[in-house]
Amino acid sequence: MIDERAFFTEKPETRQARYQCPKCRRTGEYNIRWVRRSKKDKPPAGADEGDRAKFAKLRDYLLRLDDEVTCKACGKRFEIPSQHSLMFVDQLGGLPNDEDLEREIGAASGEPERAPETKPALPARFTRKSSGWK
Ligand SMILES: [Zn+2]
Repeated sequence: MIDERAFFTEKPETRQARYQCPKCRRTGEYNIRWVRRSKKDKPPAGADEGDRAKFAKLRDYLLRLDDEVTCKACGKRFEIPSQHSLMFVDQLGGLPNDEDLEREIGAASGEPERAPETKPALPARFTRKSSGWK
């Protein structure tokens, strides 16, 4: 199998983000370094069928390079929440796709809600598609 990085062109990118310092609780804007991986027009030479299938499923994404920032208020270093270390480019703007919606619904269902009048045949966790990383 070809390394996934061969399917992408890489470009560094700086993005602003707001983070709250866990020490002083102040929120600040930070310039975070990312690398943008844009899918190439076609799979590299020598790609076999498996590589081509993998290539077809890939999406452009951003990978965060910075793991921590220095608080602008108190000067302490703190870690950026790790769940924000990868973003798909198509999630940055426009309408979310089905998979994103499902994830959001899943996240929202963690909120306490009024009990539904009728119970669904199956709890959502049995019917929801897995969106795990492969
Ligand atoms: Zn601070």
